[in-house]
Amino acid sequence: MLKQQKLTELIRTHALKLGFDACGFAKAQYLPNEARRLEEWLDQERHGTMDWITNYFDKRVDPTLLVPGSKTVVSVLASYHHPKHKDQIGVKDQPLISKYAQGRDYHKVLRKNLKKLFSFTEELLGGLEGRIFTDSAPVLDKVWAQRAGLGWIGKNSNLLNKNIGSFFFIGEMIIDAELSYDTPVTDHCGSCTKCIDACPTDAIYEPYRVDANKCISYLTIELKNEIDKKYQTNIENWIYGCDICQDVCPWNSKSVLAQFEDLHPRDYVAERDLEFWENLTPKQYDEVFEGSAIRRAKYEKFKSNVEIVADNLSS
Ligand code: SF4
Ligand code: SF4
Repeated sequence: MLKQQKLTELIRTHALKLGFDACGFAKAQYLPNEARRLEEWLDQERHGTMDWITNYFDKRVDPTLLVPGSKTVVSVLASYHHPKHKDQIGVKDQPLISKYAQGRDYHKVLRKNLKKLFSFTEELLGGLEGRIFTDSAPVLDKVWAQRAGLGWIGKNSNLLNKNIGSFFFIGEMIIDAELSYDTPVTDHCGSCTKCIDACPTDAIYEPYRVDANKCISYLTIELKNEIDKKYQTNIENWIYGCDICQDVCPWNSKSVLAQFEDLHPRDYVAERDLEFWENLTPKQYDEVFEGSAIRRAKYEKFKSNVEIVADNLSS
């Protein structure tokens, strides 16, 4: 047992050395409560047009089906907070882009570093089977991070960590080694309702539950079709994503500087004004968003968001 604990701590220490802000361990197993909650949410069609969420349901709620033979889910957090991020609270006269998307594509950054953590673990244990994930497969990442003691899922449905708030990415290694498991953290939202009160579209329809159909992040990123007229004014000045329910969360006063420099905001994304975005050509789009998560959205979708924001700002 002591050996297992020691190995676990060596992996955690290495994750922190690589630049992750936290690392935790949970036993890989079927998640009956989450399966029930997810099924209910899907039945109510709260997922909008994101039909891919309905795919691989069994694997999504059971990592041992996703990675046969797996015993452990290792979760890591990587902050993307930077003091250069402009204060977005109450800003209604400028176009806004969600903070997470202002740096290099997090999939690339996390993947690179998770590979290093996997190799370290493989060498340490003398062999390892498993896979790494960065928001790239049917994995309930927030649930696994919560079970690994890295935080609790708040009323805004984000994972909150007492030491670093919620401006971070989550990655996982699902592996066949048995390790020592962490204790889940209890909920520290208490009687706070700031995120629910601040959401401009009432997308948080009850504590801990978000209706994607009304969420600005979904409307400006995931929704491939044109945004319905009735929601167009709701997106206000958000061109890509929405941070409001995180910006108002008191725990984000704890945010820490992103250790992976690639996740720092790029001035040539963060500092642009509406006129620049309105005149953006497809070629400039590719240049400005080279290596960025925004490039995953299509130029046409991005430009359509810009047009709606331009309308909202001029009215
Ligand atoms: S991201 Fe924005 S729209 Fe979505 S729940 Fe949070 S505050 Fe509401
Ligand atoms: S704003 Fe308040 S209720 Fe919402 S997630 Fe943060 S602590 Fe929880």
